[in-house]
Amino acid sequence: MWMPRKSDHIMEIAYSYVRWFFVPTSTLLFMKYYHHTEQDLILFSLLFCFAVGYMGLTEFALQRSHVHSAFYRNMTKIGVVFDYMAFLLLISLTGGSQSPMYPIAYLVILHASLYWSFIGAMVATFMVICGYMGVVLTVDGGFLEDQLPRHLLNCVFLIMVGVIGGIIVARERKHFVEKGIFENLAKTDYLTGLSNHRSFQEQIKETIVQRNYFILVMADIDYFKSINDRYGHQAGDAVLREIGILLEVMLPKTLGSAFRYGGEEFAIILYTQDQQPASELLQQFSQKLYALEFGSAEEQFRVTMSFGAAIRGEDQHADELVAKVDALLYEAKGQGRNRVVWGR
Ligand code: GH3
Ligand code: MG
Ligand code: MG
Repeated sequence: MWMPRKSDHIMEIAYSYVRWFFVPTSTLLFMKYYHHTEQDLILFSLLFCFAVGYMGLTEFALQRSHVHSAFYRNMTKIGVVFDYMAFLLLISLTGGSQSPMYPIAYLVILHASLYWSFIGAMVATFMVICGYMGVVLTVDGGFLEDQLPRHLLNCVFLIMVGVIGGIIVARERKHFVEKGIFENLAKTDYLTGLSNHRSFQEQIKETIVQRNYFILVMADIDYFKSINDRYGHQAGDAVLREIGILLEVMLPKTLGSAFRYGGEEFAIILYTQDQQPASELLQQFSQKLYALEFGSAEEQFRVTMSFGAAIRGEDQHADELVAKVDALLYEAKGQGRNRVVWGR
């Protein structure tokens, strides 16, 4: 589903300004050069009122409603259809295919490509050409021979704008998706699927800005070197992967985030200042981890982890907090491993 981005929102505002520009411009043009019959005046007045009404609503959607709201999305999408109808009526009332307003066709095609990419540009091009032909037949009085080269060139330019505009938007969309994938890759640890060290450094600073209190936990696998030495690095990797899955499952995004800090160390940020639930969570995690059996059918082993944990102190910097929790983890190792040591 199409979701507006910041650049799309700016584009919509630009389109809105362009429409407002065309209201007085076309009115002056019509009144000075094309106001021939009473019927034309009535039609133009109707178009004028409808345009101002629609544009007022769009302006409201752009300025006041949320970009993800259905109202915003519908109003901006309908804009393409509105522009198309307004374009046809406007050129019909200002000289047919020779209208100085004719280049609005290019804007209509580009606007459609913004929402429906290449296909949108092609459909809009087809619709504009059909509309153009309709105007030639009804307003110009048919396809006159001496005008054929102009009509042909107009259509060729419409197709060119449609193809080039469609390609540019499709390319930009693809680039945007790829950028998202690369950004995600740069922040994710390949082995465990958790957020990586770089992500942790960003997140802890962000969390400090967002909330006064939270809990930081540093966790380290016990005797992991021996596991590697005895069962092989692949068995070690399997342990890291399972820990990643367990952390992911046990830690919903609303409670906190887990990171692979490095090697066999993990960092956990918990959005609470309450030691009790955090303590229970780590207890449960340790139990679930210990319940897992690793290794082969012949030789199985279990894994434990040690934890250092502390509530972030007032005005405490990220580096200070990490160093403090790291020291607590070291203490947990010193006390015999497989335990949590809380900071005071
Ligand atoms: P302690 O209980 O004191 O933490 O002892 P330990 O053996 O776990 O700690 P040590 O720091 O001596 O060893 C950590 C080991 O983790 C050494 C390294 O080979 C291993 N390691 C780090 N990253 C990976 C990895 O991605 N895969 C595997 N299989 N092993 C890793
Ligand atoms: Mg370690
Ligand atoms: Mg270790």
